[in-house]
Amino acid sequence: MTDDGFLDACRAIAGPAHVLTAPGDTAPYLTDWRGRFTGRARAVVAPATTGEVAALVRLCARHGVPIVPQGGRTGLVLGSVPDVSGTALLLSTRRLNRVRAIDAFNRTMTVDAGCVLADVQAAAGAQGLLFPLSLAAEGSCTIGGNLATNAGGTGVLRYGNTRELCLGLEVVTARGEVWDGLRGLRKDNTGYDLRDLYIGAEGTLGIITGAVLKLFPQPKAAITALVALCSPGDALQLLKLMEAHCGPTLTGYELMSDVCLRLVASHFPNLPQPFPGRYPQYALLELSSHESERHGIGLLEGAIERALEAGLVQDAVVATSIAQSKALWAIREHIPLAQAAAGKNIKHDISLPISRSADFIHATSSRLEELYPGVQVVCFGHLGDGNLHYNIAPPEGIAHDAFLDEQGPINRVVHDSVAGFGGSISAEHGVGALKRDELPRYKSAVELDLMRALKAALDPLGIMNPGKIL
Ligand SMILES: Cc1cc2nc3c(=O)[nH]c(=O)nc-3n(C[C@H](O)[C@H](O)[C@H](O)COP(=O)(O)OP(=O)(O)OC[C@H]3O[C@@H](n4cnc5c(N)ncnc54)[C@H](O)[C@@H]3O)c2cc1C
Repeated sequence: MTDDGFLDACRAIAGPAHVLTAPGDTAPYLTDWRGRFTGRARAVVAPATTGEVAALVRLCARHGVPIVPQGGRTGLVLGSVPDVSGTALLLSTRRLNRVRAIDAFNRTMTVDAGCVLADVQAAAGAQGLLFPLSLAAEGSCTIGGNLATNAGGTGVLRYGNTRELCLGLEVVTARGEVWDGLRGLRKDNTGYDLRDLYIGAEGTLGIITGAVLKLFPQPKAAITALVALCSPGDALQLLKLMEAHCGPTLTGYELMSDVCLRLVASHFPNLPQPFPGRYPQYALLELSSHESERHGIGLLEGAIERALEAGLVQDAVVATSIAQSKALWAIREHIPLAQAAAGKNIKHDISLPISRSADFIHATSSRLEELYPGVQVVCFGHLGDGNLHYNIAPPEGIAHDAFLDEQGPINRVVHDSVAGFGGSISAEHGVGALKRDELPRYKSAVELDLMRALKAALDPLGIMNPGKIL
């Protein structure tokens, strides 16, 4: 079949208006979120139903055409953009955007994979329920992308990763069959867990078209505080104290160094600075009370008082209004934007045993300072679950672009240190194409062989998002 015949068949399935080939139409789908890489595609197709997805996959299987699934294109490891060969069909899920059903008593919601996360949160909220996945990209990313990357975000400490928030899936397999696993069950021990295979597979095993999500009671109040600290070690001690004092009401615990706050202040001077003085580290805390705002504030203030007495906390601000709470979160959310404005840097999304994360920061930052005097470590992240964004910017006076030449050696220092502390080189962003070549160094031959065997069994033609993960 000629290329035109293939595209005509795509048009017959999805409708001519939903098969894009003109460069001006396809361009927005082909460059990654951070603008680092632009791929090429035979076409961009946007099916509207699971049946259309299945028909497109069968067509691709017949013609050996690779498929790159794409949701909101907010992924950070080059997973949802095709390579430069121009052979792949990019399958956008943006038209698969229906909330199919909400069962408030079962506390579940069944959605199409292309639903935007913020819309899912709003639909749950309209029923007085909470879908707790929350990340800065929530206005653009999709549930399918969240599931395919097993996204984390700010609520993992209390609610878990996206994997823990999903009870069932509907998947179009690499052969173009539809697996209907849309079960709203909290218990189902009937053999291998296929759902868990597709979650986190970054579109390399099949295309997720629908999901049953877990909902939770809405808390009556969310209380936010920012505390100033001397060190990451104190941040860990405070976490322990907060967990003991506040139990499961502690729903967020983010670490930010002073380097991060200075960056935000210099690039976003309109954001209010929380403290008159400066401190080496800060922790942003969120408590969710199911009783009342008073109860939440009482718990939080009691815990902070104890921490002040123990000398763990240097200063603290507790938000007394929604506007103040948003302003505190805005500081955290503006760190990646401030970094982008400052210039390119070398990013690491890493995971560590929570208990060892302060030692990791100390050991790795000391080693980098020895090798690159004056280097800036921009370290922040979800300390409550051991996930750090450990980004490295050049010393003053060194051009950001030139510093990127050190990416390989710096990755080696950071990732080897992560491995030495028993951590993972990807906490929540996935592997994609960006970290693919790092995997063989940090996974055993047995683990890689098992992964390759799964890929071969579920995608025997190798058409699902080739070149990603493996
Ligand atoms: C500002 C910003 C903040 C972020 N914060 C966080 C954070 O706090 N925590 C976190 O975990 N991540 C974060 N991320 C990255 C995160 O991975 C994504 O935001 C999100 O999970 C990806 O969803 P998406 O719909 O954009 O997926 P895409 O980027 O489109 O795709 C991501 C991967 O999933 C695959 N995929 C997409 N849809 C499907 C599908 N239906 N079936 C099968 N495979 C599919 C793609 O092929 C690709 O491999 C952030 C990103 C940005 C830009």
